[in-house]
Amino acid sequence: MNLSQNYTFWFCVGSQELYGPQVLDNVASHAREMVEGLNASGALPFPLTLKPTMVTGGMIRQVFNDANLDPTCAGVITWMHTFSPAKSWIRGLEEYRKPLLHFLTQYNEEIPYDDIDMDFMNENQSAHGDREFGHMVTRLGKERKVIAGHWKDPQARERIAAWMRTAVGIVESGKVRVMRMADNMRNVAVTEGDKVEAQQVFGWEIDAYPSSEIAGAVGAVNDSDVNALVDEYYSLYDIILDGRDPDEFRRHVAAQAKIEIGMERFMLEKNYHAVVTHFDDLEGLQQLPGLAIQRLEEKGYGFGPEGDWKTAAMVRVMKLMTAGMKDKKGTSMLEDYTYNMVPGKEGILQAHMLEICPSLADGRQAIRCLPLLMGNREDPARLVFTSKTGPGIAVSLIDLGTRFRLIIHEVDCRKNEKPMPKLPVATTFWTPRPDFKTGLEAWVLAGGAHHSAFSFDLSSEQMADWGRHMGVECVVLDKDTTIKSLRQDMIVGSLYYRK
Ligand code: MN
Repeated sequence: MNLSQNYTFWFCVGSQELYGPQVLDNVASHAREMVEGLNASGALPFPLTLKPTMVTGGMIRQVFNDANLDPTCAGVITWMHTFSPAKSWIRGLEEYRKPLLHFLTQYNEEIPYDDIDMDFMNENQSAHGDREFGHMVTRLGKERKVIAGHWKDPQARERIAAWMRTAVGIVESGKVRVMRMADNMRNVAVTEGDKVEAQQVFGWEIDAYPSSEIAGAVGAVNDSDVNALVDEYYSLYDIILDGRDPDEFRRHVAAQAKIEIGMERFMLEKNYHAVVTHFDDLEGLQQLPGLAIQRLEEKGYGFGPEGDWKTAAMVRVMKLMTAGMKDKKGTSMLEDYTYNMVPGKEGILQAHMLEICPSLADGRQAIRCLPLLMGNREDPARLVFTSKTGPGIAVSLIDLGTRFRLIIHEVDCRKNEKPMPKLPVATTFWTPRPDFKTGLEAWVLAGGAHHSAFSFDLSSEQMADWGRHMGVECVVLDKDTTIKSLRQDMIVGSLYYRK
């Protein structure tokens, strides 16, 4: 599955006719040089397309509406080279729906002290124009990103690059379709939610199928396709027999290969990008999908267990945001299982019954087939590994009944202190920020789920920008979080986001 999209971002430079044609010529040629420089830098994941200098209200409105309609445009970046009266921008901004970045930059890096005169000042007054434009965007209550820095500054470029990924997450969210296999797990609260509201807010289509219908697609996969995929598994992964007969082991693995192929064909045919299973409803399947789901997640499908479509959709969105990223470390659904409360070694063991995405894996991965209490099916084959280490974010989208809240927690993944030879599932182990106890208390007070969409490759800033664009409350838990500040944030959020 190719997750990378051929998006471009439009670079729109604000000015006005007051200064005469020579200044407008200079503005256009500076803008061209900047766009060419940024595109050639290799720092941005998507190219910039320069638009004609924005000088009249009619033209501004036209460009923003063109951006809305152009499927290859993922966002607009504005920059004010000169002053640009902001009343001209009102209608265009009001009608614009895609992500917006206001880049506070300037053609020249340094004030030319020896030569500066009023002509230079008229032509190069970003500091002046930025305030006029910024005021209007704020007055309109329009969500946007603001990034300051010279256009050759590597840090500014890095931040634009990160925002571009957020913008793609926003635009792509509206295309996410989740296939639910059966319903949510009985009696569980946090995996539930309002699917109509989710479609209104995030654009997600969430459809259920009887498990037997999906199992039918799995049953239709022929043996030669299954055998070819099992051969691929055996070439890619270590095999840990745990004393089982090799032929019997291979038959167990083949059941997962059949699920992988059948489920993917079903989803491709019906255009789904994320899948939800439920171990209590597996009619027609030999095993709970384990290895099969792990492989689908690695290909870029979202996943949520026990009917958790919110996590499935978030995993999909986050995988789209990291598509094509160099040296990425992985994105997966995870579940909070067990604490280590030993002082100085505190953390939470993250795992699931089976379905952790191998994109997190550090080193070799092995297939094992072992009994599973849940699922009432034969012993499922699964991939076992430990994860990479380092900072990441755990994201939980919850439905509070009247609205959604996006909780974003910065965590630090580390190696397990000791091997866990009797635990036959993929794991990671993290300590939440700002510290174990405060982080734990904060997550629970915020109402965070036991499932999360986790990524090594995205920042809390990116996910909060994504959530704000969607118009949902974002609670960020990081090094600065205190219980007192969190409670204050949630009081403000409950007032602001009340419907
Ligand atoms: Mn679970």
